[in-house]
Amino acid sequence: MTAPAESATTTSMWPISVTPSTNARSDAERTAILADPGFGKHFTDHMVRARWSADGGWQDAEVVPYGPLVLDPATNFLHYGQAIFEGLKAYKHADGSIKTFRALENAGRFARSARRLGMAELPPELFLGSIEALVRTDRDWVPDGPDKSLYLRPFMLGTEVALGVKPSANYDYLLIASPAGAYFPRGVHPVSVWLSDDYVRAAPGGTGEAKCAGNYAASLVAQAEAAQHGCDQVVWLDAVERQWIEEMGGMNLYFVYGSGDSARLVTPRLTGSLLPGITRDSLLTVAVDLGLRVDEGQISVSEWRDGCASGAITEVFACGTAAVITPVGEVKSRNLGSWQVADGGPGVVSMQLRQALLDIQTGAVPDRHNWLHTIC
Ligand SMILES: *Cc1c(COP(=O)(O)O)cnc(C)c1O
Repeated sequence: MTAPAESATTTSMWPISVTPSTNARSDAERTAILADPGFGKHFTDHMVRARWSADGGWQDAEVVPYGPLVLDPATNFLHYGQAIFEGLKAYKHADGSIKTFRALENAGRFARSARRLGMAELPPELFLGSIEALVRTDRDWVPDGPDKSLYLRPFMLGTEVALGVKPSANYDYLLIASPAGAYFPRGVHPVSVWLSDDYVRAAPGGTGEAKCAGNYAASLVAQAEAAQHGCDQVVWLDAVERQWIEEMGGMNLYFVYGSGDSARLVTPRLTGSLLPGITRDSLLTVAVDLGLRVDEGQISVSEWRDGCASGAITEVFACGTAAVITPVGEVKSRNLGSWQVADGGPGVVSMQLRQALLDIQTGAVPDRHNWLHTIC
């Protein structure tokens, strides 16, 4: 069999060559996967790779067949963790077009994460161009159907081969894609959370604002502790006073006070140790669109407990790209005991916001804020 010819793509933003896979999955195999893709289990037939060096800058951007990386054991990131990532989704709309949601925001956050980790910054033109090139190449992998999407995972690694502790002199940028099914296939299900007293996710001056691999590595022991206490997720408190609510696992949090026309939302403000979520930011706007009041503020653990006891806090939810909005139904802690948020079920405001954001992302309502970008 002759290898397919390499071809240049026409991404407007950055020149990216395409080497088609010779062992792409058959239509039947792909259709079977897309019927029940799960999350992060299956990957498309191609990926993007680009390299950075101090003399050449970013070069060799290409779409290549999905496959293993070959790494020297002394590759810098394997030891010192210069590794950052992003997560965003492409949606197939009713007219057959494929669109991303606020991808330029992900490009900006990726560049800020790189800066914090002392890594080379990826130009937004290459970030967006790589998404365009991969999604166009693997467009048949974008599932249709409510709540389904193609999850995109851009990431960057320090690849200098040397054990000296310093910023790497070389970086690899990679982009892979994974079809994603509905996050709650059997209806939205509230989570229970464990307040982490022993462990903190991020401290002032640390890397909490950066989407880096190490933040996740540091969080897993607390997640395991939450599971031991029968909880689905961990909630992080501030590192200094250990009383201000920061985030839930890999998602931001919102608190709803009151109900109906008097409902007011509060999300913890970005202090430098929270990850500035794009879903969090979008909801600040969508809430106002729906006529709700919304503020960024500070919520303490005791306010959460007392607010649930008095009925002042009516709903709590977490938000992020993967699940959009996840209601929080129950809280457990070592020092303050356990309590329910209202009746423990999904709240009206949470579900209304969830639907409103999904409707924008999937094209069910007009894109008033210009958040969508058509890829093909
Ligand atoms: C990615 C992430 C979020 C959510 O960000 P989105 O842009 O909304 O997906 C929140 N917290 C942490 C720690 C994260 O890594």
